[in-house]
Amino acid sequence: MGNHRAASRAPKRDAAAPANVAGKRKAVKHAAARGPLFRGLPSAPVLLGVAALAISAGGAVTMGNADKVASAADDFQFSSSAGALNGANGVAQVSSKNRGSEASRDSGRGAQAASSDTKLQKAAEAQAEVRSQVLTKAMASAEKQADKIEENLWILPVDGYHLTNTFGMARSYYSSVHTGLDFACPSGTPIHAIADGVITSFEYDGSYGNKTVMTLDDGTEIWYAHQTSYASDLSIGEEVRQGQVIGYVGSTGNSTGPHVHIEVRPGAGDPVDPYPAFQVHGVTP
Ligand SMILES: [Zn+2]
Repeated sequence: MGNHRAASRAPKRDAAAPANVAGKRKAVKHAAARGPLFRGLPSAPVLLGVAALAISAGGAVTMGNADKVASAADDFQFSSSAGALNGANGVAQVSSKNRGSEASRDSGRGAQAASSDTKLQKAAEAQAEVRSQVLTKAMASAEKQADKIEENLWILPVDGYHLTNTFGMARSYYSSVHTGLDFACPSGTPIHAIADGVITSFEYDGSYGNKTVMTLDDGTEIWYAHQTSYASDLSIGEEVRQGQVIGYVGSTGNSTGPHVHIEVRPGAGDPVDPYPAFQVHGVTP
Protein backbone atom coordinates (compact mmCIF):
# COMPACT_ATOMS: atom_id res chain seq x y z
CA MET A 1 0.00 0.00 0.00
CA GLY A 2 1.78 3.08 -1.31
CA ASN A 3 0.13 5.44 1.08
CA HIS A 4 1.23 3.37 4.01
CA ARG A 5 4.86 3.49 2.97
CA ALA A 6 4.72 7.20 2.43
CA ALA A 7 3.17 7.68 5.82
CA SER A 8 5.71 5.63 7.69
CA ARG A 9 8.54 7.37 5.89
CA ALA A 10 7.33 10.79 6.91
CA PRO A 11 8.58 10.75 10.52
CA LYS A 12 12.03 9.53 9.48
CA ARG A 13 12.37 12.29 6.94
CA ASP A 14 11.23 14.72 9.52
CA ALA A 15 13.86 13.57 11.98
CA ALA A 16 16.51 14.26 9.36
CA ALA A 17 15.10 17.70 8.55
CA PRO A 18 17.33 20.68 9.33
CA ALA A 19 16.64 22.51 12.57
CA ASN A 20 16.12 25.87 10.89
CA VAL A 21 12.80 25.06 9.19
CA ALA A 22 10.33 27.91 9.69
CA GLY A 23 8.72 27.64 13.11
CA LYS A 24 5.12 27.29 12.10
CA ARG A 25 5.66 24.65 9.47
CA LYS A 26 7.95 22.77 11.76
CA ALA A 27 5.38 22.73 14.53
CA VAL A 28 2.69 21.39 12.23
CA LYS A 29 4.97 18.78 10.80
CA HIS A 30 6.10 17.55 14.16
CA ALA A 31 2.61 17.42 15.55
CA ALA A 32 1.56 15.35 12.58
CA ALA A 33 4.61 13.13 12.70
CA ARG A 34 4.25 12.41 16.38
CA GLY A 35 0.58 11.49 16.16
CA PRO A 36 -0.05 7.76 16.32
CA LEU A 37 -1.83 7.85 12.95
CA PHE A 38 1.42 8.68 11.24
CA ARG A 39 3.52 5.89 12.68
CA GLY A 40 1.92 3.32 10.44
CA LEU A 41 -1.66 2.12 10.58
CA PRO A 42 -3.23 2.47 13.97
CA SER A 43 -4.62 -0.60 15.68
CA ALA A 44 -8.30 -1.42 15.20
CA PRO A 45 -9.30 -0.37 18.76
CA VAL A 46 -7.70 3.04 18.25
CA LEU A 47 -9.57 3.51 15.00
CA LEU A 48 -12.80 2.39 16.56
CA GLY A 49 -12.29 4.83 19.40
CA VAL A 50 -11.52 7.66 17.03
CA ALA A 51 -14.50 6.73 14.89
CA ALA A 52 -16.79 6.67 17.90
CA LEU A 53 -15.50 10.06 18.97
CA ALA A 54 -15.97 11.49 15.51
CA ILE A 55 -19.42 10.04 15.23
CA SER A 56 -20.55 11.28 18.61
CA ALA A 57 -19.13 14.70 17.84
CA GLY A 58 -20.97 14.75 14.52
CA GLY A 59 -24.12 13.54 16.22
CA ALA A 60 -24.85 11.12 13.41
CA VAL A 61 -25.17 8.06 15.63
CA THR A 62 -25.65 7.76 19.34
CA MET A 63 -23.12 5.80 21.33
CA GLY A 64 -25.83 3.36 22.46
CA ASN A 65 -26.27 1.95 18.98
CA ALA A 66 -23.38 -0.49 18.85
CA ASP A 67 -24.24 -1.91 15.43
CA LYS A 68 -24.24 1.45 13.75
CA VAL A 69 -21.10 2.52 15.52
CA ALA A 70 -19.38 -0.66 14.39
CA SER A 71 -20.44 -0.31 10.78
CA ALA A 72 -19.64 3.37 10.78
CA ALA A 73 -16.26 2.46 12.23
CA ASP A 74 -15.72 0.12 9.28
CA ASP A 75 -16.43 3.00 6.96
CA PHE A 76 -14.07 5.08 8.97
CA GLN A 77 -11.26 2.62 8.45
CA PHE A 78 -11.64 2.81 4.72
CA SER A 79 -12.47 6.43 4.19
CA SER A 80 -11.20 8.48 7.07
CA SER A 81 -8.02 6.56 7.69
CA ALA A 82 -7.26 6.89 4.00
CA GLY A 83 -7.81 10.58 4.46
CA ALA A 84 -5.36 10.60 7.34
CA LEU A 85 -2.81 8.88 5.16
CA ASN A 86 -3.39 11.39 2.42
CA GLY A 87 -2.68 14.00 5.02
CA ALA A 88 0.56 12.24 5.85
CA ASN A 89 1.41 12.24 2.17
CA GLY A 90 0.79 15.95 2.13
CA VAL A 91 3.20 16.38 5.01
CA ALA A 92 5.78 14.24 3.28
CA GLN A 93 5.43 16.24 0.08
CA VAL A 94 5.74 19.52 1.90
CA SER A 95 8.83 18.43 3.74
CA SER A 96 10.52 17.00 0.67
CA LYS A 97 9.69 20.17 -1.23
CA ASN A 98 11.31 22.24 1.48
CA ARG A 99 14.32 20.06 1.47
CA GLY A 100 14.49 20.34 -2.31
CA SER A 101 14.73 24.10 -2.21
CA GLU A 102 17.16 24.02 0.69
CA ALA A 103 19.28 21.51 -1.14
CA SER A 104 19.36 23.60 -4.28
CA ARG A 105 20.24 26.68 -2.30
CA ASP A 106 23.02 24.77 -0.59
CA SER A 107 24.42 23.40 -3.83
CA GLY A 108 24.11 26.87 -5.38
CA ARG A 109 26.16 28.31 -2.56
CA GLY A 110 28.64 25.49 -2.88
CA ALA A 111 29.13 26.09 -6.57
CA GLN A 112 29.70 29.74 -5.99
CA ALA A 113 32.20 29.08 -3.26
CA ALA A 114 33.98 26.52 -5.43
CA SER A 115 34.39 29.00 -8.26
CA SER A 116 35.43 31.49 -5.57
CA ASP A 117 33.30 34.05 -7.30
CA THR A 118 32.09 35.88 -4.22
CA LYS A 119 31.12 38.85 -6.37
CA LEU A 120 28.14 36.96 -7.74
CA GLN A 121 27.10 35.90 -4.26
CA LYS A 122 27.35 39.45 -2.96
CA ALA A 123 25.30 40.70 -5.86
CA ALA A 124 22.66 38.08 -5.13
CA GLU A 125 22.63 39.01 -1.46
CA ALA A 126 22.33 42.70 -2.30
CA GLN A 127 19.49 41.91 -4.66
CA ALA A 128 17.73 39.90 -1.95
CA GLU A 129 18.21 42.77 0.48
CA VAL A 130 16.70 45.27 -1.97
CA ARG A 131 13.84 42.88 -2.64
CA SER A 132 13.09 42.58 1.05
CA GLN A 133 13.23 46.35 1.46
CA VAL A 134 10.84 46.85 -1.42
CA LEU A 135 8.54 44.23 0.06
CA THR A 136 8.61 45.91 3.47
CA LYS A 137 7.86 49.25 1.87
CA ALA A 138 5.00 47.80 -0.16
CA MET A 139 3.50 46.21 2.95
CA ALA A 140 3.76 49.45 4.88
CA SER A 141 2.09 51.36 2.07
CA ALA A 142 -0.67 48.75 1.82
CA GLU A 143 -1.32 49.13 5.54
CA LYS A 144 -1.38 52.89 5.23
CA GLN A 145 -3.83 52.59 2.35
CA ALA A 146 -6.03 50.25 4.40
CA ASP A 147 -6.07 52.76 7.25
CA LYS A 148 -7.00 55.51 4.85
CA ILE A 149 -9.88 53.52 3.42
CA GLU A 150 -11.06 52.66 6.91
CA GLU A 151 -11.25 56.29 7.94
CA ASN A 152 -12.53 57.30 4.53
CA LEU A 153 -15.54 59.50 5.13
CA TRP A 154 -18.21 59.94 2.52
CA ILE A 155 -20.21 63.05 1.75
CA LEU A 156 -23.80 63.25 0.53
CA PRO A 157 -24.25 63.48 -3.23
CA VAL A 158 -26.64 66.45 -3.26
CA ASP A 159 -27.70 69.42 -1.16
CA GLY A 160 -31.32 70.40 -0.48
CA TYR A 161 -32.84 66.96 -0.95
CA HIS A 162 -35.42 64.84 0.78
CA LEU A 163 -35.32 61.08 0.82
CA THR A 164 -38.13 59.38 -1.05
CA ASN A 165 -37.64 55.70 -1.81
CA THR A 166 -35.43 53.72 0.52
CA PHE A 167 -33.64 50.43 -0.06
CA GLY A 168 -35.85 47.35 -0.20
CA MET A 169 -39.13 49.19 -0.92
CA ALA A 170 -41.50 47.45 -3.29
CA ARG A 171 -41.76 49.21 -6.64
CA SER A 172 -44.87 49.07 -8.77
CA TYR A 173 -42.89 49.53 -11.97
CA TYR A 174 -39.92 47.37 -10.99
CA SER A 175 -40.07 43.59 -11.02
CA SER A 176 -37.91 43.59 -7.91
CA VAL A 177 -37.56 45.75 -4.83
CA HIS A 178 -35.82 49.11 -4.81
CA THR A 179 -32.06 48.60 -4.86
CA GLY A 180 -30.90 52.05 -3.80
CA LEU A 181 -31.67 55.26 -1.93
CA ASP A 182 -33.44 58.16 -3.66
CA PHE A 183 -32.47 61.76 -2.97
CA ALA A 184 -35.21 63.95 -4.47
CA CYS A 185 -34.25 67.50 -5.39
CA PRO A 186 -34.78 69.97 -8.24
CA SER A 187 -33.72 68.95 -11.70
CA GLY A 188 -30.24 70.21 -12.53
CA THR A 189 -28.94 70.03 -8.94
CA PRO A 190 -25.22 69.16 -9.12
CA ILE A 191 -24.33 65.62 -8.04
CA HIS A 192 -21.08 65.34 -6.09
CA ALA A 193 -18.81 62.32 -5.91
CA ILE A 194 -19.36 60.91 -2.42
CA ALA A 195 -15.70 59.80 -2.14
CA ASP A 196 -12.51 59.57 -4.17
CA GLY A 197 -12.71 57.03 -6.93
CA VAL A 198 -12.50 56.27 -10.61
CA ILE A 199 -15.25 56.68 -13.20
CA THR A 200 -15.91 53.14 -14.41
CA SER A 201 -18.78 53.89 -16.76
CA PHE A 202 -21.43 56.43 -17.67
CA GLU A 203 -24.19 55.51 -20.03
CA TYR A 204 -27.93 55.32 -20.47
CA ASP A 205 -29.00 52.11 -18.72
CA GLY A 206 -32.71 51.35 -19.18
CA SER A 207 -34.67 51.93 -16.00
CA TYR A 208 -31.65 53.64 -14.42
CA GLY A 209 -31.63 56.31 -17.11
CA ASN A 210 -28.35 58.20 -17.36
CA LYS A 211 -26.17 56.35 -14.92
CA THR A 212 -22.60 56.97 -13.75
CA VAL A 213 -20.65 54.22 -12.02
CA MET A 214 -17.77 55.19 -9.77
CA THR A 215 -15.42 52.64 -8.24
CA LEU A 216 -14.02 53.68 -4.89
CA ASP A 217 -10.54 52.80 -3.66
CA ASP A 218 -11.87 49.79 -1.72
CA GLY A 219 -13.60 48.36 -4.81
CA THR A 220 -17.10 49.51 -3.88
CA GLU A 221 -19.17 50.72 -6.83
CA ILE A 222 -21.38 53.76 -6.41
CA TRP A 223 -24.13 54.14 -8.99
CA TYR A 224 -25.69 57.55 -9.64
CA ALA A 225 -28.88 57.10 -11.68
CA HIS A 226 -31.60 59.15 -13.47
CA GLN A 227 -29.28 62.07 -14.24
CA THR A 228 -30.40 64.72 -16.65
CA SER A 229 -26.81 65.05 -17.87
CA TYR A 230 -23.24 64.17 -16.99
CA ALA A 231 -20.49 66.60 -16.09
CA SER A 232 -19.18 67.87 -19.41
CA ASP A 233 -15.57 66.83 -18.80
CA LEU A 234 -16.34 63.34 -17.47
CA SER A 235 -14.35 60.45 -18.93
CA ILE A 236 -13.98 56.72 -18.32
CA GLY A 237 -11.01 55.92 -16.11
CA GLU A 238 -10.96 59.46 -14.77
CA GLU A 239 -9.88 59.79 -11.16
CA VAL A 240 -12.50 61.80 -9.36
CA ARG A 241 -12.02 63.58 -6.06
CA GLN A 242 -14.63 63.59 -3.35
CA GLY A 243 -17.03 66.49 -3.86
CA GLN A 244 -16.31 66.84 -7.57
CA VAL A 245 -19.44 67.39 -9.68
CA ILE A 246 -19.98 64.33 -11.84
CA GLY A 247 -23.47 65.09 -13.18
CA TYR A 248 -26.87 66.72 -12.65
CA VAL A 249 -30.09 65.47 -11.12
CA GLY A 250 -32.79 64.44 -13.55
CA SER A 251 -35.63 62.03 -14.08
CA THR A 252 -34.38 59.81 -16.90
CA GLY A 253 -35.27 56.10 -16.98
CA ASN A 254 -37.97 54.76 -14.67
CA SER A 255 -38.51 57.79 -12.50
CA THR A 256 -41.55 59.71 -11.31
CA GLY A 257 -39.69 62.93 -10.55
CA PRO A 258 -36.22 64.44 -10.39
CA HIS A 259 -33.95 62.62 -7.97
CA VAL A 260 -30.61 60.88 -7.84
CA HIS A 261 -30.81 57.17 -7.14
CA ILE A 262 -27.67 56.05 -5.26
CA GLU A 263 -26.67 52.41 -5.30
CA VAL A 264 -23.83 50.96 -3.21
CA ARG A 265 -22.31 47.75 -4.51
CA PRO A 266 -19.35 46.45 -2.47
CA GLY A 267 -16.81 44.67 -4.63
CA ALA A 268 -18.97 45.45 -7.69
CA GLY A 269 -21.40 42.79 -6.43
CA ASP A 270 -25.01 42.97 -5.27
CA PRO A 271 -26.36 46.24 -3.91
CA VAL A 272 -26.50 46.88 -0.17
CA ASP A 273 -28.60 49.41 1.71
CA PRO A 274 -26.92 52.78 1.09
CA TYR A 275 -28.34 54.33 4.26
CA PRO A 276 -26.19 52.39 6.77
CA ALA A 277 -23.33 52.44 4.27
CA PHE A 278 -23.37 56.25 4.45
CA GLN A 279 -23.55 56.06 8.23
CA VAL A 280 -20.59 53.67 8.42
CA HIS A 281 -18.66 56.30 6.46
CA GLY A 282 -19.55 59.07 8.86
CA VAL A 283 -22.59 60.73 7.32
CA THR A 284 -26.33 60.25 7.86
CA PRO A 285 -28.52 61.04 4.86
ZN1 LIG B 1 -34.19 54.81 -6.75
